[in-house]
Amino acid sequence: MQTLFPFPASAVLFPGLFRVGFRVRNAAFCAKIFTFATMKLTFLGTGTSQGVPVIGCRCRVCTSADRRDHRLRTSAMVETGDVRLVIDAGPDFRYQMLRTGVRHIDGILLTHEHKDHIGGLDDVRAFNFVDYPPTVHRVEIYASARTAACVRKDFDYAFAQDKYRGVPEILLHEIDVERPFTVGGVEILPVSGHHSERFTVTGYRIGRLAYLTDFKTIEDVEVEKLRGVEVLVVNALRFAEHYSHFNVAEALSLIRRVGPREAWLTHMSHDIGLQAETERMLPPGVHMAYDTLEIEIEE
Ligand SMILES: [Zn+2]
Ligand SMILES: [Zn+2]
Ligand SMILES: [Zn+2]
Repeated sequence: MQTLFPFPASAVLFPGLFRVGFRVRNAAFCAKIFTFATMKLTFLGTGTSQGVPVIGCRCRVCTSADRRDHRLRTSAMVETGDVRLVIDAGPDFRYQMLRTGVRHIDGILLTHEHKDHIGGLDDVRAFNFVDYPPTVHRVEIYASARTAACVRKDFDYAFAQDKYRGVPEILLHEIDVERPFTVGGVEILPVSGHHSERFTVTGYRIGRLAYLTDFKTIEDVEVEKLRGVEVLVVNALRFAEHYSHFNVAEALSLIRRVGPREAWLTHMSHDIGLQAETERMLPPGVHMAYDTLEIEIEE
């Protein structure tokens, strides 16, 4: 959980918190302010596939004392009403869930099958058994047909006819990426993009929030699905171009096309620079997300 630092010291240490004013929620302080219906987005991880720091790297970012420069693999949690969703479950899933303190999730939405997005799925076992005995909670996972096929292959023991005891209990739903679907009554609209020339990736729009990661290109018809979002999360790997991820310029270009009230960058590598320095270079309304950041979105 985010800690509330006393003002004004926190304004120096964490200027980003104050730039977005009371919309960034910090512990009990802001909980009392929000009396209207809100959706909460928690960034569980904001790093690219290797995470930051990178093993063995001695660069300024990887050795930074600013905790915002330390990024677990990209994942987020969305809470609306009494429905709690997690987007992606990479290799840091276990620690990310421990850090939130939650005991139940209603669904995991997968963006694509790369290991930094599905590698932690075995750890859904913990959620299976929080109320056992007597109850086993199967974890519901939503993914495109292609990603679902990869999950079945990579975690074949969880889908075997004759399973051994203790394997993850998963209910895997293949979604039609052309149509909205619901989880616990919450409508979710898939938004497709291209991760590279070779395959697609699925982003998700939930009300006035849209969450896109690992996009490299997006077609106009998919951009139309983002009209009216208030908060747009989009991947931005670094400043230099990359063959399969938006760089900062490409992310900013999409942000301009969509025109959200605020945009948050995620899936960042150590090459993007220090949070304290790069954040200042971004246009108004665009920020670098960081791990454990929580944002409230009016519904
Ligand atoms: Zn990734
Ligand atoms: Zn580094
Ligand atoms: Zn990827």
